[in-house]
Amino acid sequence: MIVMALGPEKSNSGGAITLSVVVPFFNESDVLPEFHRRLTGVLDQLQESSEIIYVDDGSQDDSWNLVASFPESRSDRFCIQLSRNFGKEAAMSAGLENTRGQAVILLDADLQDPPELIPVMLQQWEKGFDIVNMQRRKRNGESWFKRTSASIFYRLLNSLSQSEIPENVGDFRLLDKKVIEHINRLPERNRYMKGIFAWPGFEQTTVLFDRDERFCGSTKWNFLKLLGLAVDGITSFSIKPLRIATLMGSLVAVLAFCYGLMVVLKTLILGEPVTGYPSMMVVQLGLGGIQLLSIGLLGEYIGRIFIEAKARPLYLTRSVTEKKARSERHQH
Ligand code: UDP
Ligand code: MG
Repeated sequence: MIVMALGPEKSNSGGAITLSVVVPFFNESDVLPEFHRRLTGVLDQLQESSEIIYVDDGSQDDSWNLVASFPESRSDRFCIQLSRNFGKEAAMSAGLENTRGQAVILLDADLQDPPELIPVMLQQWEKGFDIVNMQRRKRNGESWFKRTSASIFYRLLNSLSQSEIPENVGDFRLLDKKVIEHINRLPERNRYMKGIFAWPGFEQTTVLFDRDERFCGSTKWNFLKLLGLAVDGITSFSIKPLRIATLMGSLVAVLAFCYGLMVVLKTLILGEPVTGYPSMMVVQLGLGGIQLLSIGLLGEYIGRIFIEAKARPLYLTRSVTEKKARSERHQH
């Protein structure tokens, strides 16, 4: 008789877990106690068994000690501390790789994604959807600049990339285990998660919600970090910018050829008066600009190949702590 080898059992699995909640955080000690209180408040009411996965993305403050010291609740708790700040995308990957649940929800620690919506997300999942995207109805507490730049970015991204990345959907979403397994197997180092979540497809639905303002503290993103994320988003999901550069180059070459022909004919017919300084400058500056832009663009892609080729790990773990769920027998 052939005995089929099942996948390796996780050593810590004590009964099947339905829901995993992944929470990446970076210097959030002000908000974590309130976050944990609200999250466990919701999870404790659920029929489904759950676990919370806290990922400390190299916090400099007391956040790590806080999550490790919270009292036990009805959910298992798994805390991963990364060795330094690797960025939210890497922290989320670390969390996703350690989930055991049949469904996984990603949640920001700053209470902008209300934990109270978890039952609604589970309902959609039980209806058979594999991905439940949470779309913001409006962006409370965000500057006009951030809202406008985000909207331009999404439009640009979606016109360039093949998989539709829904606008105003952050990382707050539910994903079925089978999607998570595919995502965990993606080899790329450059993890633009919003694109990665959109890539596998599967049955998706979108739920509208009002995104709250940050509970306290300030955003961990500055303009340059966001710009970097935007460039990452575009270049890791599309090579259309390269094609546009090629097209632009060809167009300019054709125009230059026609203009050259005109200049030759004009010189033959009318002789050679020394004029044309303005047109020469315009052409030179224009061409120079396009060339530099295209080289820069090439550089972006080559840089990405370089990073992928090094194949370094996405993150390093410093320590891990685990807390089992409070035993049901002590419940009343
Ligand atoms: N975060 C993280 N690593 C970082 C930056 C942010 O884990 O390098 C976490 C942060 O603690 C929060 C979530 O990612 O839980 C969202 O960050 P933030 O609220 O600063 O972003 P915003 O809501 O302004 O987009
Ligand atoms: Mg936030």
